[in-house]
Amino acid sequence: MQLTFHGAAREVTGSLYLLETDQSRILIDAGMFQGPRRLERLNMVPRGLDLQRIDAILLTHGHLDHCGRLPLLSRSGYRGPVYATQGTIEIASLILHDAAHIQEHDTKRENRRRARAGMKPTKPLFDDRDVEHVIRQFVPVSYDEINNITDQIKATFVEAGHILGSASIKLRVRENGETKNLVFSGDLGQYDVPLMRDPALIEEADIVMMESTYGDRDHRPMTETLSEFKEILRKAFQDGGKVLIPSFAVGRTQQILYYLALMANRDEIPALPVYLDSPMGISATAIYARHEEIMDEAAQVIIEDGDIKKGKFRFRTCQSMEESQMLNELPGPCVIIAGAGMCNAGRILHHFKHNLWKETTEVVMVGYQARGSLGRMLLDGADRVKIFRETIQVNATINGVGGFSAHGGQTDLLRWLEPMASKKARVILTHGESHQIDELSYAIERKFDLKPFAPKLQEKIEI
Ligand SMILES: [Zn+2]
Repeated sequence: MQLTFHGAAREVTGSLYLLETDQSRILIDAGMFQGPRRLERLNMVPRGLDLQRIDAILLTHGHLDHCGRLPLLSRSGYRGPVYATQGTIEIASLILHDAAHIQEHDTKRENRRRARAGMKPTKPLFDDRDVEHVIRQFVPVSYDEINNITDQIKATFVEAGHILGSASIKLRVRENGETKNLVFSGDLGQYDVPLMRDPALIEEADIVMMESTYGDRDHRPMTETLSEFKEILRKAFQDGGKVLIPSFAVGRTQQILYYLALMANRDEIPALPVYLDSPMGISATAIYARHEEIMDEAAQVIIEDGDIKKGKFRFRTCQSMEESQMLNELPGPCVIIAGAGMCNAGRILHHFKHNLWKETTEVVMVGYQARGSLGRMLLDGADRVKIFRETIQVNATINGVGGFSAHGGQTDLLRWLEPMASKKARVILTHGESHQIDELSYAIERKFDLKPFAPKLQEKIEI
């Protein structure tokens, strides 16, 4: 049996692993590489991969770095099933449609530039038709049920606690009269956070493929994060300022709404109106609200009849551009949640343009801000920033609030691994940059006396 790492090998994006036995071939995830151009160039069908001979694809969750190459594989000739939980199918469909629109838009702009320079036009990686096509290939699976994927491979999807529908995948593989248990962690969430159930306990594993995004550290405790958040909201209320929260549409937005609703209903924060100014965030929140059954009991506190429960929580959504622009006329105080999460595009830019120059504005960064992003520049204390070719003076307060991550920290990862590591499973670390992998390796060695292995991109190993 062989395993090849066609992505997320000493990187955090592009998850795609090929498992081959003497008679079966399956893929686990088919994610997009994201970030610098060097990585984006890798967004292709892996070299040497014969799509006609792939029996199935198993998808851990709907984030683009795990599902973004699915339309490309489908367009290039993959006709088989894509197994995923119902939650993942809905989230992946939303995210893939959005990605197709962004790519079509970017390609049009690039082709206008190419036409001016007398160059040949380029094509988007995939379009909406490819997305529609691959959506028809989805096969829903239930959590904790055994699925026969091929004659040799059985798969069970279990809770990963990361975003709605997210799963770790347990495989039972029979080859030449021998059975092996393989576990693919997918992305793992934090333990004991509201909305998401805890990652499931897995005991049986010969080989574990584990993510290591935050393998080097623990997140800030939630109690500290929340008291800082409350302080910012109180200050904005007193000053009459706007609180701007750039946020990822899936996962982070719902978590922030949860805390805002809870704190408002408990009178822990002033009665500020909260606007979700993100069509994709609105759709993702509706998917969350529809699937209360796969969240923890905390979800019931804020979800009622498939909608966000209002009570004292003054919550509005802005679907259209006009509704979004109306927010500029509001005097404040209020809270505006808008995309994109790293402030590199989306409606948050308009709110920045209209409010960053005001001293009463509070910006709350709740997610990871990559180097080079506008969000990172603001966090690093930039005096002026360029938005839509206009230089804007930054007089707002920029707050970096840690703790809201959808990924587990080092302690969470070790806790998840413990039952398998204590039985001496072989540990393979993926989905992390070198520093995070090294730190997590060291922690695993110290705690369990095991030496993990971290494959390189395209590396094939015998198992
Ligand atoms: Zn993820």
